[in-house]
Amino acid sequence: MTTKDRLETRLIRAGHGAGRAAKTVGPAVQKGSTVLLPDAASLYPDDDTLTYGRQGLSAQFALQAAIGELERAKSVTLYPSGIASLTGPMLAVLKAGDEVLVVDTIYKPTRRFCDQVLKRFGVGVRYYDPNQSPEDLVGSASEATRLILMESPGSLSFEMQDVGRIAELARARNILTAADNTWAAGYLYRPLDHGVDISIQALTKYVAGHSDVFMGSAAVNDPKLARALDDGIHNLGWAVSGDEAYQVLRGLRTLPTRLARHGESALKIANWLAGRPEVVRVYHPALPGAPGHELWKRDFTGACGLFAFALKPAPAAAVDALLDALRLFGLGFSWGGFESLAIACDPQLKVRKFNPDYGGPLVRLHIGLEDPDDLIADLAHGLAAYAAHATQLGAG
Ligand SMILES: *Cc1c(COP(=O)(O)O)cnc(C)c1O
Repeated sequence: MTTKDRLETRLIRAGHGAGRAAKTVGPAVQKGSTVLLPDAASLYPDDDTLTYGRQGLSAQFALQAAIGELERAKSVTLYPSGIASLTGPMLAVLKAGDEVLVVDTIYKPTRRFCDQVLKRFGVGVRYYDPNQSPEDLVGSASEATRLILMESPGSLSFEMQDVGRIAELARARNILTAADNTWAAGYLYRPLDHGVDISIQALTKYVAGHSDVFMGSAAVNDPKLARALDDGIHNLGWAVSGDEAYQVLRGLRTLPTRLARHGESALKIANWLAGRPEVVRVYHPALPGAPGHELWKRDFTGACGLFAFALKPAPAAAVDALLDALRLFGLGFSWGGFESLAIACDPQLKVRKFNPDYGGPLVRLHIGLEDPDDLIADLAHGLAAYAAHATQLGAG
């Protein structure tokens, strides 16, 4: 700045290069659309040099590095929501005429994208039974099959899949694999270590951990795939803000500690529910004897706070009575935050192609960081309301 400039000009330039950033434990949160280049030659680089803020700035880079550490991945792409981290990679690798095999227990909005968008663009979508063997699944692939999209466990009914075996068989046939790994938060299970090409998670859930920000990530090791995903977000015009990247990174710092507590409390509550007369079955892969337990034991290092249980058959009104009697559990979608939540699952199961009998109405719980005994007392209250309502309805 020269002193000859007038005030209006000086106000525009003031503070440039003040250069007094102290070192803090978190990254700087840079805000910028424009990135200033050092000279004319740098305006049009022939490599990946940063020339525009949408590519991400300091906080986004710090978060990418931390998720790379978490997932043991060479490259991490950030998305503005968890659902975008599923739709983005699919749009990046699929083209008209391709087919994608999607597990029938997939997160419902992912299914809606497949049905409402992919099909419209000429991509075939086939839903498969999570209980199908990896050999039968990959054996059913056609010449057009380009991608297999898994989610294990499914986040409503908790079917487990042999993800590693599916990835191995798919690779031999040149089919890409992707896993929505939100349940394991990139920490309790690492898909890339098991041969999966794209490890996806809704950071919105456990990594952010406070139910107040949307973000998703896709982690890969193959440089060509990394390039395809990065080109994909640039082509779609998606970006995440520095503030939100910072917020997600702050959550990630305490992820292992929080998950240990979520997992321990959830297992305690699952065990208690399994002994209750109103409960037919508990769907929690870490519970011995529960469906998928052997696969969980083989592949996972722990469990999170999300599971479901089936009640003895009764009308939906009795399930509503249970939910309405809860004081500590909020009624709401999503999970992974510090608070406990409950939902009835059955209305969401209707869109599925394979509908096994879970034994009765399915209720999903997210176990938060409250005292588990308080949560058990709350559930006891809910189950009493359920039983009273079911008897009443039965008698009426
Ligand atoms: C919540 C969720 C998503 C989507 O995340 P958003 O940030 O809400 O878009 C994707 N997959 C699973 C399994 C989820 O639970």
